[in-house]
Amino acid sequence: MSHTLEGKTAIVTGSNSGIGLGVARSFAEAKMRVVLNSYTDDAADHDLAREIGEEFGTEVIYIQADMSKPEQCRALVEQAGACDVLVNNAGIQHVAPIEDFAPEKWDAILAINLSSAFHTTAAALPMMRKAGWGRVINIASAHGLTASPYKSAYVAAKHGIVGLTKVTALETAKEPITANAICPGYVLTPLVESQIPDTAKKYDMTEDEAKEKVILERQPSKEFATTEQIGGTAVFLCSDHAAQITGTTISVDGGWTAL
Ligand code: NAD
Repeated sequence: MSHTLEGKTAIVTGSNSGIGLGVARSFAEAKMRVVLNSYTDDAADHDLAREIGEEFGTEVIYIQADMSKPEQCRALVEQAGACDVLVNNAGIQHVAPIEDFAPEKWDAILAINLSSAFHTTAAALPMMRKAGWGRVINIASAHGLTASPYKSAYVAAKHGIVGLTKVTALETAKEPITANAICPGYVLTPLVESQIPDTAKKYDMTEDEAKEKVILERQPSKEFATTEQIGGTAVFLCSDHAAQITGTTISVDGGWTAL
Protein backbone atom coordinates (compact mmCIF):
# COMPACT_ATOMS: atom_id res chain seq x y z
CA MET A 1 0.00 0.00 0.00
CA SER A 2 1.40 3.41 -0.85
CA HIS A 3 1.20 6.18 1.68
CA THR A 4 0.97 9.84 0.84
CA LEU A 5 2.64 12.21 3.26
CA GLU A 6 -0.01 14.87 2.71
CA GLY A 7 -1.92 15.55 5.93
CA LYS A 8 0.29 13.34 8.09
CA THR A 9 1.54 15.01 11.28
CA ALA A 10 5.29 15.48 11.78
CA ILE A 11 6.77 16.69 15.06
CA VAL A 12 10.28 18.13 14.77
CA THR A 13 11.96 18.92 18.10
CA GLY A 14 14.24 21.97 18.21
CA SER A 15 12.95 23.34 14.93
CA ASN A 16 12.94 27.12 15.22
CA SER A 17 16.39 27.26 13.61
CA GLY A 18 19.04 25.30 11.72
CA ILE A 19 18.57 21.68 10.69
CA GLY A 20 15.23 21.24 12.47
CA LEU A 21 13.82 24.22 10.60
CA GLY A 22 15.14 22.84 7.30
CA VAL A 23 13.51 19.47 7.99
CA ALA A 24 10.24 21.16 9.01
CA ARG A 25 10.23 23.20 5.79
CA SER A 26 10.78 20.04 3.69
CA PHE A 27 7.83 18.35 5.44
CA ALA A 28 5.64 21.44 4.91
CA GLU A 29 6.60 21.37 1.22
CA ALA A 30 5.33 17.76 1.19
CA LYS A 31 2.03 19.17 2.58
CA MET A 32 2.39 17.53 5.95
CA ARG A 33 0.93 19.03 9.10
CA VAL A 34 4.06 20.18 10.94
CA VAL A 35 4.68 20.87 14.61
CA LEU A 36 7.60 23.19 15.27
CA ASN A 37 9.16 23.20 18.74
CA SER A 38 11.72 24.84 20.95
CA TYR A 39 11.99 25.85 24.61
CA THR A 40 11.10 29.50 23.93
CA ASP A 41 7.57 30.86 23.54
CA ASP A 42 8.15 34.07 21.60
CA ALA A 43 5.85 35.74 19.10
CA ALA A 44 8.63 35.08 16.55
CA ASP A 45 8.24 31.31 17.09
CA HIS A 46 4.51 31.39 16.33
CA ASP A 47 5.05 33.83 13.43
CA LEU A 48 7.61 31.45 11.94
CA ALA A 49 5.11 28.58 12.04
CA ARG A 50 2.40 30.75 10.44
CA GLU A 51 4.77 31.95 7.70
CA ILE A 52 5.87 28.42 6.75
CA GLY A 53 2.24 27.28 6.74
CA GLU A 54 1.28 30.14 4.42
CA GLU A 55 4.29 29.56 2.15
CA PHE A 56 3.45 25.91 1.55
CA GLY A 57 -0.32 25.92 2.06
CA THR A 58 -0.40 23.52 4.98
CA GLU A 59 -0.95 23.62 8.74
CA VAL A 60 2.16 24.45 10.74
CA ILE A 61 1.92 25.11 14.47
CA TYR A 62 4.44 25.89 17.19
CA ILE A 63 4.41 24.11 20.56
CA GLN A 64 6.75 25.27 23.31
CA ALA A 65 8.38 22.43 25.26
CA ASP A 66 11.78 22.16 26.93
CA MET A 67 13.47 18.97 25.73
CA SER A 68 15.61 18.84 28.88
CA LYS A 69 12.42 18.04 30.86
CA PRO A 70 11.03 14.48 30.48
CA GLU A 71 7.41 15.46 31.21
CA GLN A 72 7.56 18.30 28.63
CA CYS A 73 8.96 15.90 25.99
CA ARG A 74 5.97 13.62 26.49
CA ALA A 75 3.52 16.55 26.71
CA LEU A 76 4.75 17.87 23.34
CA VAL A 77 3.65 14.66 21.63
CA GLU A 78 0.33 14.54 23.50
CA GLN A 79 -0.40 18.20 22.72
CA ALA A 80 0.32 17.68 19.01
CA GLY A 81 -2.69 15.32 18.98
CA ALA A 82 -1.10 13.02 16.41
CA CYS A 83 2.41 11.90 15.56
CA ASP A 84 3.00 10.02 12.31
CA VAL A 85 6.58 11.23 11.96
CA LEU A 86 8.81 12.07 14.89
CA VAL A 87 12.11 13.85 14.28
CA ASN A 88 14.32 14.07 17.35
CA ASN A 89 16.56 16.97 16.43
CA ALA A 90 16.95 19.27 19.46
CA GLY A 91 20.58 19.45 20.46
CA ILE A 92 23.24 21.53 22.17
CA GLN A 93 27.03 21.39 22.32
CA HIS A 94 29.74 22.13 24.87
CA VAL A 95 33.46 21.66 24.36
CA ALA A 96 36.00 21.03 27.16
CA PRO A 97 38.48 18.35 28.26
CA ILE A 98 36.85 15.64 30.39
CA GLU A 99 38.48 16.77 33.61
CA ASP A 100 37.21 20.35 33.12
CA PHE A 101 33.80 19.41 31.69
CA ALA A 102 31.14 20.94 33.95
CA PRO A 103 28.91 18.12 35.28
CA GLU A 104 25.79 20.25 34.70
CA LYS A 105 26.79 20.63 31.01
CA TRP A 106 27.19 16.86 30.76
CA ASP A 107 23.71 16.38 32.27
CA ALA A 108 22.13 19.00 29.98
CA ILE A 109 23.64 17.50 26.81
CA LEU A 110 22.62 13.98 27.77
CA ALA A 111 19.09 15.19 28.61
CA ILE A 112 18.50 17.29 25.48
CA ASN A 113 20.50 15.31 22.87
CA LEU A 114 19.61 11.79 24.06
CA SER A 115 17.02 11.33 26.83
CA SER A 116 14.48 13.62 25.11
CA ALA A 117 14.38 11.16 22.20
CA PHE A 118 13.58 8.30 24.59
CA HIS A 119 10.66 10.24 26.09
CA THR A 120 9.20 11.51 22.80
CA THR A 121 9.55 8.07 21.21
CA ALA A 122 7.78 6.44 24.17
CA ALA A 123 4.90 8.89 23.77
CA ALA A 124 4.79 8.66 19.97
CA LEU A 125 4.91 4.87 19.36
CA PRO A 126 1.37 4.20 20.68
CA MET A 127 0.06 6.91 18.32
CA MET A 128 1.95 5.43 15.36
CA ARG A 129 0.65 1.95 16.20
CA LYS A 130 -2.91 3.28 16.40
CA ALA A 131 -2.49 5.03 13.03
CA GLY A 132 -0.91 1.89 11.53
CA TRP A 133 2.13 3.73 10.18
CA GLY A 134 5.05 5.71 11.54
CA ARG A 135 8.56 7.03 11.11
CA VAL A 136 11.09 7.86 13.82
CA ILE A 137 14.04 9.89 12.54
CA ASN A 138 16.80 10.74 14.97
CA ILE A 139 19.24 13.48 14.01
CA ALA A 140 22.51 12.02 15.27
CA SER A 141 25.82 13.21 13.80
CA ALA A 142 29.10 12.05 12.31
CA HIS A 143 29.92 12.18 16.03
CA GLY A 144 27.44 9.31 16.49
CA LEU A 145 29.92 7.14 14.56
CA THR A 146 33.31 8.73 15.28
CA ALA A 147 34.76 10.86 18.07
CA SER A 148 36.63 14.12 18.57
CA PRO A 149 38.49 15.24 21.66
CA TYR A 150 36.76 17.65 24.08
CA LYS A 151 33.25 16.62 23.01
CA SER A 152 32.70 13.83 25.57
CA ALA A 153 29.03 14.49 26.31
CA TYR A 154 28.08 15.22 22.70
CA VAL A 155 29.85 12.13 21.33
CA ALA A 156 28.40 9.94 24.10
CA ALA A 157 24.88 11.27 23.49
CA LYS A 158 25.15 10.89 19.72
CA HIS A 159 26.49 7.31 19.98
CA GLY A 160 23.65 6.74 22.46
CA ILE A 161 20.97 7.96 20.08
CA VAL A 162 22.31 5.64 17.37
CA GLY A 163 21.84 2.78 19.86
CA LEU A 164 18.34 3.95 20.77
CA THR A 165 17.52 4.09 17.04
CA LYS A 166 18.48 0.40 16.64
CA VAL A 167 16.39 -0.68 19.64
CA THR A 168 13.39 1.35 18.39
CA ALA A 169 13.75 -0.35 15.00
CA LEU A 170 13.86 -3.85 16.52
CA GLU A 171 10.84 -3.21 18.75
CA THR A 172 8.81 -2.05 15.70
CA ALA A 173 10.35 -4.35 13.08
CA LYS A 174 7.16 -6.31 12.36
CA GLU A 175 5.05 -3.15 12.07
CA PRO A 176 4.81 -0.48 9.35
CA ILE A 177 7.04 1.73 11.48
CA THR A 178 10.72 2.47 10.87
CA ALA A 179 13.41 4.14 12.98
CA ASN A 180 16.61 5.52 11.52
CA ALA A 181 19.29 8.05 12.33
CA ILE A 182 20.61 10.72 9.99
CA CYS A 183 24.27 11.47 10.69
CA PRO A 184 25.20 14.89 9.32
CA GLY A 185 28.76 16.12 9.05
CA TYR A 186 29.13 19.89 9.14
CA VAL A 187 25.93 21.57 8.04
CA LEU A 188 25.75 25.21 7.09
CA THR A 189 23.44 26.54 9.81
CA PRO A 190 23.43 30.15 11.05
CA LEU A 191 25.48 28.98 14.05
CA VAL A 192 28.23 27.44 11.91
CA GLU A 193 28.13 30.34 9.45
CA SER A 194 28.72 32.83 12.23
CA GLN A 195 31.91 30.99 13.26
CA ILE A 196 33.60 31.53 9.87
CA PRO A 197 34.75 35.18 10.28
CA ASP A 198 36.11 34.55 13.81
CA THR A 199 37.94 31.40 12.72
CA ALA A 200 39.46 33.30 9.77
CA LYS A 201 40.65 36.04 12.14
CA LYS A 202 42.03 33.57 14.68
CA TYR A 203 44.12 31.68 12.09
CA ASP A 204 44.93 34.77 9.97
CA MET A 205 43.30 33.20 6.90
CA THR A 206 40.72 34.24 4.34
CA GLU A 207 37.18 33.07 5.11
CA ASP A 208 37.42 30.48 2.30
CA GLU A 209 40.66 29.09 3.76
CA ALA A 210 39.16 28.99 7.26
CA LYS A 211 36.18 27.07 5.92
CA GLU A 212 38.27 24.53 4.02
CA LYS A 213 41.28 24.06 6.27
CA VAL A 214 39.81 24.49 9.75
CA ILE A 215 36.03 24.06 9.89
CA LEU A 216 35.79 21.44 7.14
CA GLU A 217 39.10 19.79 8.02
CA ARG A 218 37.40 16.39 8.49
CA GLN A 219 34.90 16.73 5.64
CA PRO A 220 36.66 15.42 2.48
CA SER A 221 34.18 17.10 0.10
CA LYS A 222 35.23 20.48 1.57
CA GLU A 223 31.59 21.49 1.24
CA PHE A 224 29.04 21.96 3.99
CA ALA A 225 25.91 19.83 3.87
CA THR A 226 22.78 21.98 3.69
CA THR A 227 19.65 21.94 5.81
CA GLU A 228 17.69 21.26 2.60
CA GLN A 229 19.75 18.09 2.03
CA ILE A 230 18.98 16.89 5.56
CA GLY A 231 15.30 17.74 4.97
CA GLY A 232 15.31 15.82 1.69
CA THR A 233 16.87 12.80 3.39
CA ALA A 234 14.15 12.91 6.07
CA VAL A 235 11.42 13.07 3.40
CA PHE A 236 13.01 10.07 1.65
CA LEU A 237 12.99 8.11 4.93
CA CYS A 238 9.25 8.82 5.12
CA SER A 239 8.63 7.48 1.62
CA ASP A 240 7.48 3.99 0.70
CA HIS A 241 10.86 3.41 -0.97
CA ALA A 242 12.40 3.52 2.51
CA ALA A 243 9.91 1.11 4.11
CA GLN A 244 12.59 -1.59 4.56
CA ILE A 245 15.25 0.82 5.77
CA THR A 246 15.17 0.56 9.54
CA GLY A 247 17.63 0.53 12.41
CA THR A 248 20.39 2.12 10.42
CA THR A 249 22.34 5.34 10.01
CA ILE A 250 22.47 7.50 6.89
CA SER A 251 25.51 9.74 6.74
CA VAL A 252 25.22 13.11 5.01
CA ASP A 253 28.80 14.12 5.68
CA GLY A 254 30.76 14.62 2.44
CA GLY A 255 32.82 11.48 3.14
CA TRP A 256 33.80 12.23 6.78
CA THR A 257 33.07 8.73 8.06
CA ALA A 258 34.74 7.07 5.05
CA LEU A 259 38.13 8.36 6.18
P1 NAD B 1 20.75 24.93 16.15
O1 NAD B 1 21.35 25.51 17.40
O2 NAD B 1 20.51 25.83 14.99
O3 NAD B 1 19.40 24.17 16.47
C1 NAD B 1 19.16 23.51 17.68
C2 NAD B 1 17.69 23.56 17.93
O4 NAD B 1 17.43 22.91 19.18
C3 NAD B 1 17.17 25.01 18.06
O5 NAD B 1 15.92 25.10 17.46
C4 NAD B 1 17.09 25.19 19.57
O6 NAD B 1 16.12 26.15 19.91
C5 NAD B 1 16.66 23.78 19.97
N1 NAD B 1 16.89 23.51 21.37
C6 NAD B 1 18.00 23.65 22.11
N2 NAD B 1 17.76 23.33 23.40
C7 NAD B 1 16.46 22.95 23.46
C8 NAD B 1 15.62 22.51 24.51
N3 NAD B 1 16.05 22.42 25.77
N4 NAD B 1 14.33 22.22 24.22
C9 NAD B 1 13.85 22.34 22.96
N5 NAD B 1 14.61 22.76 21.92
C10 NAD B 1 15.90 23.05 22.18
O7 NAD B 1 21.73 23.73 15.74
P2 NAD B 1 21.68 22.71 14.51
O8 NAD B 1 23.06 22.71 13.97
O9 NAD B 1 20.55 22.95 13.61
O10 NAD B 1 21.50 21.33 15.30
C11 NAD B 1 20.34 20.53 15.20
C12 NAD B 1 20.72 19.07 15.46
O11 NAD B 1 21.61 18.64 14.45
C13 NAD B 1 21.42 18.85 16.79
O12 NAD B 1 20.97 17.64 17.37
C14 NAD B 1 22.88 18.75 16.39
O13 NAD B 1 23.63 17.99 17.28
C15 NAD B 1 22.74 18.06 15.04
N6 NAD B 1 23.91 18.22 14.16
C16 NAD B 1 24.29 19.45 13.68
C17 NAD B 1 25.38 19.56 12.83
C18 NAD B 1 25.82 20.88 12.23
O14 NAD B 1 26.89 20.94 11.61
N7 NAD B 1 25.09 21.97 12.37
C19 NAD B 1 26.09 18.40 12.49
C20 NAD B 1 25.67 17.17 12.99
C21 NAD B 1 24.57 17.09 13.82
